[in-house]
Amino acid sequence: MSRVDPTAGREQLLWGWGRTSPARATVVAPERAEQVVDVVRSVGPTGVVARGLGRSYGDPAQNAGGVVLDGTSRSGLLELDLARGIARMEAGTSLDDLMKWLVPLGWFVPVTPGTRIVTVGGAIASDVHGKNHHKKGSWGNHVLSLRLVDGRGEVRDLSPTEEPDLFWATVGGMGLTGIILDATVQLQAVSSSRILVDSDRAADLDEVMALMIDGDDDYDYSVAWIDVMAKGRRLGRSVLDRGRFATRDEVLAAGVHRPADYAPHHLASVPDLFPSGLVNHLTVKAFNELWFRKSPARRRDALMGIEHFFHPLDMVSDWNRVYGRRGFIQWQYVVPDEASDFVRYSLERISGAGLPSFLSVLKRMGPGNAGHLSFPIAGWTLTIDIPVTAGLDELFDDLDRRVADLGGRLYLAKDSRMDPALLAQMYPRLEEWREIRDKADPQHRFRSDLGRRLGLV
Ligand SMILES: Cc1cc2nc3c(=O)[nH]c(=O)nc-3n(C[C@H](O)[C@H](O)[C@H](O)COP(=O)(O)OP(=O)(O)OC[C@H]3O[C@@H](n4cnc5c(N)ncnc54)[C@H](O)[C@@H]3O)c2cc1C
Repeated sequence: MSRVDPTAGREQLLWGWGRTSPARATVVAPERAEQVVDVVRSVGPTGVVARGLGRSYGDPAQNAGGVVLDGTSRSGLLELDLARGIARMEAGTSLDDLMKWLVPLGWFVPVTPGTRIVTVGGAIASDVHGKNHHKKGSWGNHVLSLRLVDGRGEVRDLSPTEEPDLFWATVGGMGLTGIILDATVQLQAVSSSRILVDSDRAADLDEVMALMIDGDDDYDYSVAWIDVMAKGRRLGRSVLDRGRFATRDEVLAAGVHRPADYAPHHLASVPDLFPSGLVNHLTVKAFNELWFRKSPARRRDALMGIEHFFHPLDMVSDWNRVYGRRGFIQWQYVVPDEASDFVRYSLERISGAGLPSFLSVLKRMGPGNAGHLSFPIAGWTLTIDIPVTAGLDELFDDLDRRVADLGGRLYLAKDSRMDPALLAQMYPRLEEWREIRDKADPQHRFRSDLGRRLGLV
């Protein structure tokens, strides 16, 4: 049987996870580094962008009318130093695979987002954060080195000490500095596959924020799930889950055998044609109410599996279809500690508008890293999913401006609608990033729908 040329390409309609702005592109799936170089060198004026597992919400992994390079055809571990927990892997390797391979060996990814269905390339390009940002920072903090194909088709070896400018422009650079081929990463040692979790139900926003300020330092991981539909006295009522990996002995003492076993699974999937109207004010309010009442008021040392604590949404495949054909936006901002009142303000505006939103997530962030376009800064980050409805832009345009004026920013991996005029205010090192990118990619071969929408390319 003759083999299909993986660089020949096929036209495909691509979406972000929010399913809001699909675009057609020619998708190529090179399997070897030389083929990635060939694609970059031969690409026309419509440019190319890498795509991982398409878990960013908006349009950064799309390139309408151009080429999209499917990074997932290059996946796998290349080297593993089990004693030191240092692994080199192809950029298309998923965190899901890494966990399956490494957890039984006593190693975990240094940072995991709320889904493990993301690639290493996507994790670096978005500089993703997790429930441990206050302790461990974001993905870029743990990358020891990476190889990047730049806009001239040259393979560059980058690290925080070797060509640090291009390294940090790539961390959080949304794929616009080049194609990451592989990366060497410092893993985190774990002695079991279970988390010991403390849960506290908080009656309102003040209570949950106070709990987080007082106690987060005592925990490796922390996340508050907020009922955004609650108003008035109950505004911000939430369940705060905090924990750390259990030791082998703690797991054995709980009567669980084989403490390092890890075999996550999907429970269900959502049908393709979920009616748009099903996610409405009433259904979501009822769901949130039930969830809040069902959660324990105070629970200590519950033993949870990795997938239950870190990736509850991954248990339902394609849950993004629940929002119907029009899709949904995820709005995520971070504001510095001095602007913590904005958390209340934003919740009041959103719950006041009666927008149906399932649980939203509140986290504390520690200091950011040297990534020019990296999202995290020390302060509060709030994440909300909202189905696309009329009037959304008006509300969020106003909230976005306030975020920018307070020294905060929106997360580019989640964005699908922000005003490009706010970008430089939110990301004050944007010009520095452009200069580095222009040197690495003078012809702007790396192009994406997000890049065009925000005036980055
Ligand atoms: C349910 C859910 C929960 C999430 N929770 C979090 C969270 O807690 N924290 C967080 O930070 N994010 C979170 N995210 C967002 C997600 O982690 C990021 O969008 C991540 O980048 C997705 O990785 P991906 O492999 O799917 O990349 P894609 O979505 O396919 O691409 C994302 C970006 O990475 C670039 N890219 C991909 N591969 C390469 C490569 N080889 N070389 C260069 N650039 C590349 C693309 O060009 C694009 O700009 C969540 C997403 C979902 C769906």
